[in-house]
Amino acid sequence: MSDPILPRIRPEIAALPPYRQGKQAGADAFKLSSNENPFDPLPQVAEALAAATPVNRYPDATAGALRERLGERHGVGPDAVHVASGSVSILYQFVSAAATVGDEVIYAWRSFEAYPGLPLVSGATGVPVPLASGARHDLDVMAAAVTDRTRVIIVCTPNNPTGPVVTSAEFAAFLAKVPQDVLVLLDEAYAEFVTAPDAVDGLAERVYEDHPNVVVLRTFSKAYGLAGLRVGYAIGNPRVLDAARTTAIPLSVTSAAERAAIVSLDAEDELRARVDVIVERRAVLVDGLRAQGWDVPDAQGNFVWLPTGADTMSVAAVFDEAGLIVRPFDGDGIRISVGEHESVEKVLRAAESVVRTLHR
Ligand SMILES: *Cc1c(COP(=O)(O)O)cnc(C)c1O
Repeated sequence: MSDPILPRIRPEIAALPPYRQGKQAGADAFKLSSNENPFDPLPQVAEALAAATPVNRYPDATAGALRERLGERHGVGPDAVHVASGSVSILYQFVSAAATVGDEVIYAWRSFEAYPGLPLVSGATGVPVPLASGARHDLDVMAAAVTDRTRVIIVCTPNNPTGPVVTSAEFAAFLAKVPQDVLVLLDEAYAEFVTAPDAVDGLAERVYEDHPNVVVLRTFSKAYGLAGLRVGYAIGNPRVLDAARTTAIPLSVTSAAERAAIVSLDAEDELRARVDVIVERRAVLVDGLRAQGWDVPDAQGNFVWLPTGADTMSVAAVFDEAGLIVRPFDGDGIRISVGEHESVEKVLRAAESVVRTLHR
């Protein structure tokens, strides 16, 4: 039988590999491939889910209660907050609102896997700028890459998957060079895990006030442990946020997600204590790996980066064999999430067993 004729798709889309999730862990394996929170949901969250608005009703399209709460938390009005089904959605909303055919979107590379797809889907051109030494953003080169076609620049801090932050001073110097009509998305998905005192904090520093072209993105998926519910938010100038509100798919944030996020904000101290535990485990991992001889960059998120280069897939197989699901990026390196207490020793043992076999 001949192949059926399929509908015509834009060639640049047809050429893309469809999204593949990090491997699901077997019963006794640790899933350290998606930077999830290893702790069980708080009991309050489970209760809030059970009590959420009847599911035959649509949610509040504006997520008004959560925007109000986030506004109070960060000292802005509710219109300066935009909530969506994960901050990845917000990235798509902004890029599709700001950039199309002929326009350019600058981002660091290697960085978050979702970035290259953003300009591609909106028809724009992606401009990846290689990381500088230490696996850090090269903001000077990123600023120099701006042309009159640039519409969006994405800055990821701490950088997923390599770990280092952008400092306040670096970000300020960068903004001084970027034209005011270029949208800068400051992706702070891992902000809660940062311990570096000089790291930029777009919300605490209120960078969007002096620079209305900057929008700060945060998520409940990582530190708050709600990855499965899909809630993220942006804070910035209300008129700039309108662009994302316009391209958002309406009613994507469910009442359950909104309730769970509010309850989590109420339990911030409890969740912060969990973050502290993750940060302690991160330090054990980084120190242990460096003592073994690994060249681990500064780790400021809930993950560590092993620069395994050409050995990436064979090293990933060793972790896999040890019951550790990690995220390999072929030819580049391996990202390992900071997970359950027992996973830390296992990661260190597996890493030690391969470190001497690496090709330098
Ligand atoms: C995880 C992550 C996000 C957000 O994920 P959502 O679950 O969609 O909120 C955004 N940016 C980076 C860099 C991430 O790693």
